[in-house]
Amino acid sequence: MGSGYDIGMSHDPIAESVLAFLREQDPEAGAILAAETERQATTLELIASENHASPAVMHAMGTCFTNKYAEGYPGARYYGGCVHHDELETLAQERAKRLFGCEFANVQPHSGAQANAAVFLAMLKPGDTFASLELSDGGHLSHGLKVNMSGKWFNPVHYPLHYDKGHERFEQIDYDAVEEVCREHKPKMLMCGYSAYPRVIDFARFREIADTCGALLMADIAHIAGLVAAGVHPAPFPHCDIVTTTTHKTLRGPRGGLIMTNDADLAKKINRAVFPGMQGGPLMHVIFAKAIAFGEALKPEFKAYQEQVVRNAKALASALAGRGYRITSGGTDNHVMLVDLQPRDAGLTGADAEQWLEQAGIITNKNGVPQDPRPPRVTSGLRLGTPALTTRGLGEGEMVLVAELIDRVLGSKGDEGICTQAREEVTQLCGRFPMP
Ligand SMILES: *Cc1c(COP(=O)(O)O)cnc(C)c1O
Repeated sequence: MGSGYDIGMSHDPIAESVLAFLREQDPEAGAILAAETERQATTLELIASENHASPAVMHAMGTCFTNKYAEGYPGARYYGGCVHHDELETLAQERAKRLFGCEFANVQPHSGAQANAAVFLAMLKPGDTFASLELSDGGHLSHGLKVNMSGKWFNPVHYPLHYDKGHERFEQIDYDAVEEVCREHKPKMLMCGYSAYPRVIDFARFREIADTCGALLMADIAHIAGLVAAGVHPAPFPHCDIVTTTTHKTLRGPRGGLIMTNDADLAKKINRAVFPGMQGGPLMHVIFAKAIAFGEALKPEFKAYQEQVVRNAKALASALAGRGYRITSGGTDNHVMLVDLQPRDAGLTGADAEQWLEQAGIITNKNGVPQDPRPPRVTSGLRLGTPALTTRGLGEGEMVLVAELIDRVLGSKGDEGICTQAREEVTQLCGRFPMP
């Protein structure tokens, strides 16, 4: 953009000196970091799975904890010199347990998909059946996509949302269908928790259904972990046997995964599946950042933040609905919404919308809506989320502005002049809400 991010828009002097240092050490790589820093500072991040981590979390990842091998677990390592790594991993575990109210936490998975893969490795045998939401209705690729390990080596069966327009729970989880799928297929494991689902998940109801077929109940709270930690979404414990999550979405930590349980036997199997089953050395610098993020999430400010995330999502959804867009399921209870573009403009695709908005500095992702007539690379919808904008301090008033900007760009069908004008307004708005 050439608006000269360099120094001044950040509230983080350490990040600024690190950037200056890296530009000196390696101008070629440093320039790429400078450009990305400016991109993040001057655009509106509406991707529901992204956030802006705190300076403490960011800098924790750039520490000497990256230098060390610590294969194994605290007190049982395969390398010498792990005394502080034991202290650190134990601290991260203790904070995770306190945050989610459980007995055992494995903080080593490198990502959310790795955490899920470790659960499959620990709990199922190749060919075993498990149940999850239809992926096109908001499920994650690690819940049984054909080309993912979960769909290739195991046997996924899927439950749908309510598709009946007249139903009061239209486009929400159809618990009767979950029950039906479990009765018919007797899955060994029942999964809940999603990537594009704007409503509350009833974990107690899932428990009842899992018990009718003797299935293990697993919740993947990758998206809603921050809301759960803050008590803004109901907790999966004590209903679920196993809970996995990412640490970088609403939880606002470093990129990573986490697996939790209350059952000592399951915990043993999970630990063995993560290491040595799936991974070698843990990313101890990331575990350091996880510990710090969990510490932040235990503070009262974090609850206030998550409450604002939800208020902002409701404000954005209702402003968009007021401009003729359809919000699937009629609204949102959490941080995410699915915007069906068809009622606003039957010819408008998610792919075009994503591209035009990016021209204007509004970063989103195209996403299929339930029973979308268009293929996944095109789609008729956008998935929007408020975690990142809320971290920057935008409130409900700004959500109305954001909805207006989105509608102006999409209504113009990506007109260059309109996008350029919107881009300038976005940069100005960003200037009022600096990065953490
Ligand atoms: C994001 C997500 C994941 C995967 O996380 P990665 O860290 O990208 O591997 C897993 N499950 C759900 C439900 C997600 O939304």
